[in-house]
Amino acid sequence: MCGIVGVVGNTNATDILIQGLEKLEYRGYDSAGIFVTGGEQAHLVKAVGRIAELSAKVGDKTEGTTGIGHTRWATHGKPTENNAHPHTSQTAGHILVHNGVIENYAEIKEEYLAGHDLKGQTDTEIAVHLIGQFAEEGLSTLEAFKKALKIIQGSYA
Ligand code: GLU
Repeated sequence: MCGIVGVVGNTNATDILIQGLEKLEYRGYDSAGIFVTGGEQAHLVKAVGRIAELSAKVGDKTEGTTGIGHTRWATHGKPTENNAHPHTSQTAGHILVHNGVIENYAEIKEEYLAGHDLKGQTDTEIAVHLIGQFAEEGLSTLEAFKKALKIIQGSYA
C-alpha cells in the first residue's frame, strides 16, 4: 500500500515530506519520490528502495515551500525510478501522485494520448498526461482534473 503526503507552507517542504514518508514506511513500498517547488525552482527526486536512499539523493539543494511525496507499491510497471511517483504531464506543468489502480489506462492512452512521450509503464502516468492534455486544450487545472475523472475508471486517491 502506498502513502501520500503533501505540504503547502512557508518553511522548507522537503524535510516535512521526508519525515511524512518515513512515518508511512510501515505500510510497505518499493520506491519513493518527492516534488518540491518554490516559485521559479522545481525539484523532482525519486529513488528505488528505502526513504533513506531518497533522502540521500535529495541532499540540501532541494528547496521549496510546496510539495508532494509518495511511497509506491507497484501495480503497473516494475519498481524502477522512472515508474516511481510523482509523475509529470507532457509539458511537466502538472505533477501527480496516485494511490490505487486505473483500470482503463490502456484505452485512455490509445484514445487521448497519441504522440505523448511516456517515461514509464504506470497507469498513473496516463492520468497526469490526460489532465495535462485537457489543460493544453484550454481547460483550467480544476476543469481538466474533473474531466479526467469522468473518464478514469478504477480506484484512486
Ligand atoms: N498503480 C500505481 C502504480 O503502479 C500506484 C500504485 C500505488 O498505489 O502505490 O504506480
